[in-house]
Order: sequence, then C-alpha cells, then structure tokens
Amino acid sequence: MSALEVQKARAASVFNRENLESILRGRFFYAPAFDIYGGVSGLYDYGPPGCAFQANVIDTWRKHFILEEDMLEVDCTMLTPYEVLKTSGHVDKFSDWMCRDLKTGEIFRADHLVEEVLEARLKGDKEARGIAHDPNEEEDSDKKKRKKKVKQIKAIKLEDEVVKEYETVLAKIDGYSGEELGELMVKYTINNPATDGPLEPPMAFNLMFETAIGPSGQLRGFLRPETAQGQFLNFNKLLEFNNSKTPFASASIGKSFRNEISPRAGLLRVREFLMAEIEHFVDPLDKSHPKFADVKDITLSFLPRGVQEAGSTEPITETIGKAVESKMIDNETLGYFISRIYQFLIKIGVDKTKLRFRQHMGNEMAHYATDCWDGELLTSYGWIECVGCADRSAFDLTVHSNKTKEKMVVREKLETPIEVTKYEIDLTKKLFGPKFRKDAPLVEKFLLDLSQTELEAKANELKTNGKVVFQINGLEGDVELDNKFINIEKRTKVEHVREYVPNVIEPSFGIGRIIYAVFEHSFWNRPEDTARGVLSFPPLVAPSKVLLVPLSNNKELQPVTKKVSDILRKAQIPFKVDDSGVSIGKRYSRNDELGTPFGVTIDFDSVKDDSVTLRERDSTQQVRGSVEDVIKAIKDITYNGVTWEEGTKNLEVFTSSQESK
Ligand code: AMP
Repeated sequence: MSALEVQKARAASVFNRENLESILRGRFFYAPAFDIYGGVSGLYDYGPPGCAFQANVIDTWRKHFILEEDMLEVDCTMLTPYEVLKTSGHVDKFSDWMCRDLKTGEIFRADHLVEEVLEARLKGDKEARGIAHDPNEEEDSDKKKRKKKVKQIKAIKLEDEVVKEYETVLAKIDGYSGEELGELMVKYTINNPATDGPLEPPMAFNLMFETAIGPSGQLRGFLRPETAQGQFLNFNKLLEFNNSKTPFASASIGKSFRNEISPRAGLLRVREFLMAEIEHFVDPLDKSHPKFADVKDITLSFLPRGVQEAGSTEPITETIGKAVESKMIDNETLGYFISRIYQFLIKIGVDKTKLRFRQHMGNEMAHYATDCWDGELLTSYGWIECVGCADRSAFDLTVHSNKTKEKMVVREKLETPIEVTKYEIDLTKKLFGPKFRKDAPLVEKFLLDLSQTELEAKANELKTNGKVVFQINGLEGDVELDNKFINIEKRTKVEHVREYVPNVIEPSFGIGRIIYAVFEHSFWNRPEDTARGVLSFPPLVAPSKVLLVPLSNNKELQPVTKKVSDILRKAQIPFKVDDSGVSIGKRYSRNDELGTPFGVTIDFDSVKDDSVTLRERDSTQQVRGSVEDVIKAIKDITYNGVTWEEGTKNLEVFTSSQESK
C-alpha cells in the first residue's frame, strides 16, 4: 500500500470502540485495577505496552516543553495539608454537582445527566425523522445497557423549537451552576433515567480525597487534586534558582487524585491520574512572548465563548497570530502555549481534525482567571477536555502570600527611578521585647508583612482610636498596640526597584486522557480483513519500535537474530523478538495491535550476506539492506523525524512472499 492508500484506508475504516478496547485489554495496555477482587470504578493499572507508551509520551513532553523553554522541574508531595488547599480555594470550591435518587440510592453527576438525557432525546427525534446516525459514533456496551433503560431514547419527534432549545443547552452545558442545572432538570422533566423516579436537586460534592497525616489524626490533609499548588509554594526558591530572572516557568509531572462522582468512560474519567503541569510566571504588565513569532502562523480550530453563548458548536478557523491580535485570546503568552500544546499533541499522534480549542464561558471560568482555553479531543465519547490552558492572574501567589505572610514577588531594577506614594510602618522595637517576650519576633514579622490595603485600614484605625487591634496566628487573644509602639504614615519616595506579584499562565495536561484519545485516533482496520486492527502510533511514542522475526525457528537463524538483537540493545532501540512457530503474517498482525512501527525479518539470505528485510507497519511496504543500514533507517525515522521514503531511499524495495505480508 502507498502512503495515500493507507490514508484512504484509515479514513474509510469504521471505528468500533469494543474492538479497540478488546485489543487494549487483550494486549494489556491497561486493565481495571484490583480486577480479581471485582475492581473499583475509576482505577486502572497500566501493563507493559501502556507503561512504555506513557513513558514515551512523558519523555516527548519533557523535551517539547521543559527542554525547549528551560523550565524548572519540581517533584512535590501528593499529601497536602488542609490549610494549603483551604487557602487555594479547593476546600470550598473544588466540587461537582450531584443529585441523588433517595429511593434507589443512585447518584448522578448533574451536568452529565442533563447532557445524556437531552442527547438521547435528540437522537430519538432524529430516529423519528428518519435521519441515520453516524456509524462512527459507536457506543460502549456500558452506555448501551444504560440506554436500554433510558425511557427518553424512544423514537419521539420533538417540536422544532425544543430541538433548538436542547441544542443551545448542550452547547452551554459546561457553564451552568448547580441551581441552573436544577432548574433545567425541572423544566425538562429529567428524572432517574432507569426508573423515571424523582431526583433531589443538585448538591455540591467536593472531589478531594481527605486523609489524616500522622498517627494523631490531628493534621487534616488531602491527596492533591492537581500538581500546581506545590509549584506555587516553591515560587521564591525557584525564582532564586533562576537568578531572580523572569519570566520563567516551573513544571511538574505526577499523580493527582479526584473522587469523581460516577467515573465511566474508561481512562477518560478516573480517580487517580497522571498530570503534567506548567506554571509560567510572567509580568502582569507585559505578557508578550519572545518566541510568539515562531508560532503565529499556525492555524487552529477555535470555539470561542461568544459562539457557545449563542448556542452554537461551529468552530472558527484562525491563525494564532490573528486570534491574539483580535483579542479573542487574551495575550501572546497564552497564545504561544496554545500553539505549543497543539504541536505537542500532533507529535504524539493526535489527529488534527479531531482537536479544537474551546474557550471557557464567563461563569465556567474560575473567578480569578483572565482567560481559559481547553484543548479538546474528539473521541467516541464526544469532545473531551484533555489540556487546560488558563491565565490564572496573580491569584495563587497572592492568596498563599496573604495567608503565610511570606512575600512572593519579583523585584526588578528600574532604569528610570519612579516616585511612589505608599503607606509605611515604623515600630518602636525596644518596647516589643518587654511586652511580647519570646513572641516579639513573630509580632514584628506580622506587622512588617502587612499589605498596603491592611496598612491603610490600620492607619485609619490608629488615627481614630489611638490604638490598633490585631489577631495573630499562633498568639492567643487580641494584640493591642498604641502609637508609642507603632506609627503608620503615607510617604512619597523615589524607588529604584519595581516589585510585583507575577501572573501565571498554566497549561495543564491529563496524560491518561491524551493517551486514550491517541489510541482512538490511531486505530483502524485493514480493508482486506476488518478483524485485523492496527494501532498506527508515531514511531517516537510507540511502546516498542521493532519486531524481530526469524523466518522459522531453524537454529541456523539464531546467530543473526542474536547479532541484530545485540545491535538494537546497544543502540537503545526498544524491540521484541518473536520466534514463535506461527506464520509471519500472524506474528505481524499481532504486532500491529501493539502499534510497533517496524518489523525486521531474518531469513536464510541473512545468514549468507548479513541482509535483512524491513517492514513498515501501516503500508506493509518492505525494503531490504544490510543490518547496519536498516538499523540506521529505523533510528532516523523513529528519533530524528525522517520520513519512511527519505529514510529508506538507499534500501532496495523487497517484494515479499504472500506469507510475510
Ligand atoms: P482541570 O484542573 O480540571 O482543568 O484538569 C486538568 C486536566 O486534567 C484536564 O485537562 C484533564 O486532561 C485532566 N483530568 C481532569 N480530571 C480528570 C479525570 N477524572 N480523569 C482523567 N483526567 C482528568
């Protein structure tokens, strides 16, 4: 097959999720954890090919982001004290909306339920109107089972306005509050789909796993729901490590935990998952990016806020340069990372026609965020958020700094000094020792760390009452100070240094989701035999790169097999030997299911002249050459981005026997 024929065959292949899943589980890419105990939903183990694939994706991520941008990688603990996540807002706000059926005890995630029921009704409407459904929209057996029970799936024609209304609600589904979801459930009579029984109104359910740190049970904590907080808390150390230069970025790869309400959808919604997150710290007054010019001409598919709010899901195609210029994307740095995310996803095998960037709607976005875009990938479960890219403003550093009284700022020497008017505090330190004894340093630090807003309030209090009252963490009761101890004044001074809290641009990747989407995007069936599935991973991320296939298990072939194995091992190219007795065709088709891009066949000519055959997985094209030349071609194509045509141009085209095809 030529490359064009492969492209056509892949496009014509009808996706079937059950086939893909049976390969992924059969070849142990992953499997439900605690399987023999019946499993726990939302928890999975990765097997050898899954592990190798994930390791290659992470390796590519490290090179694409950390190496390219000189990012500072940190590895922070997963156990996080209550205080930290209270300050970050997760204790109060990190929740989804759930509703319960008091009769059956079933629990539903409210937004997913509304979405599922309205989609089912729209499908029923299509059926009633005789509109065929898309064969690529395969359903998993889980969903099929549930749908059998869903009463609303019946082929019932809806009024045209109702169809429009449902479509509008679905376009905005990510932006509703709990109260609004409750109203939609009442308005559209959305009950328990299985029994049609009533459900309680949506309630907030916090997604964090709580635990106690240490034996006393006194120190409350959580398993982290994201890796970001550890990066923020280390900001000062990272800034110092970077010789106080900004902008700079930190990065972290590690597990996060979320107690999802009803995890289904395989690897897409799990309770423990690998995240790779970047926190890029930038001057709030200058969010330009020095490398923006390199990416500005990349064309992407965008679903901006306005389009969704108008009830549409029709994306617009635009260059990243224009999207930033028109202010659709808030700033250059955010635009730069969106493009880099795109380049990374394509590199690891995402189908670019199944990738869009969706902007968060007003009420979907965290209150502190300036702008936020999700990199969404189209799968058989619909469009799934796989990468978030948000401008989190100065929120995180500010709240942690206010709470701990630890300044987290950038100090920048000014070329032209400026006049600044601000509140200053003077302490009569000699009076602090006698009054506060061992606590004196704590009180002094607290006072010196007060923010401008706090100083302004306290200056007024001092003026009005002749004294100020504080509550200080770690000290019992109120602390009262009069103007013998303390003086707060507004002064104008010439400053040579500018001090600011940097803003944060955060690209956040869910590795499991991306991996699963790549599985779907890479999967197709050979046209001549639909039972033969192929996973067309890019060689760079494929779990193993080469299958070594001796033509038979004749002893004569063993020395060459050993020789090629040794060379591959020395070159650190992952490979497997398959010297099982089955036909070569069978061995290759087994291997296609593992996504191995190359096959090297060793035959009796190999013994004579040291030549081997190289087979390309997708086209099944074969070329022949010396062991050395074949391995060079494999290396160039896998690691140096060389095409098959270019990499094998000096090798001879080989017409195979029927069997080895
Ligand atoms: P968020 O902090 O919610 O924007 O999530 C960041 C990224 O983590 C998302 O883009 C997803 O790729 C991933 N993610 C979030 N929740 C889950 C989950 N339950 N299972 C797998 N991946 C998830």
